[in-house]
Amino acid sequence: MRKKIVAGNWKMNTTPAEGLELVKNVMAQSAEVCECVNFIVCPPFTHLSQVAEAAKGSRVAVGAQNCAAEAKGAYTGEVSAAMIASLGVEYVILGHSERREYYGETSETLNKKMAQAYANGLKPIYCVGERLEEREAERHFEVVKAQIEEDVFNLTEEQFADLVIAYEPVWAIGTGKTATAEQAEEIHAYIRTVLAEKFGEAAASTPILYGGSCKPSNAQEIFAKENVDGGLIGGAALKAEDFVAIGKGF
Ligand code: PEP
Repeated sequence: MRKKIVAGNWKMNTTPAEGLELVKNVMAQSAEVCECVNFIVCPPFTHLSQVAEAAKGSRVAVGAQNCAAEAKGAYTGEVSAAMIASLGVEYVILGHSERREYYGETSETLNKKMAQAYANGLKPIYCVGERLEEREAERHFEVVKAQIEEDVFNLTEEQFADLVIAYEPVWAIGTGKTATAEQAEEIHAYIRTVLAEKFGEAAASTPILYGGSCKPSNAQEIFAKENVDGGLIGGAALKAEDFVAIGKGF
């Protein structure tokens, strides 16, 4: 049985007060959802500490949206994996397409970030996904395979056991366009095959989340697919009702 996960990426949204209210509402409303669903919220750094404190001991886990590639030192504006882990945070999103596109994150940087995450006990939610032109040129399988080869194939078996993958087609993020359930299943199954080539049987346990305009109205159809183990949610994670309703989609 693979973990079922609904993770919310709050991006650069919510003040600390709003974030606190949001996590409290998620905690309260999630009581209506099957215990088998793991909720994760990923607030901005400014209120990671407060949100982690509020969620302590609840069914809602907390993740960061990024971490530094280096351990410590003269890196103005960066936040290290050790700092994040010290707050009781369990996950970190790495390789999000917005980080790759707007902040020039390469596989080299991501290799270092993954290493920092693992060295400090954080579980990466590693994002992969193709751009629109790559999908149109039918290069999506090759793009996703390369992203996995670059940043996942170097993990140890022990590290791999803690990995969560999020497949997020760039053309579906924040656009209102969702991949069809069939498109999601096709590529999720492919991702699992690629992982199995390297890690064998262990790939059967890796949660692979779908991300890209996932909402209460389409979650159920997408989550029904065999290789879709939940979602990484952007916009719809900012309203507790919608986020929790997505969790009812299993
Ligand atoms: C995301 O950025 O991870 C995401 C899936 O965003 P949205 O749900 O808003 O498309």
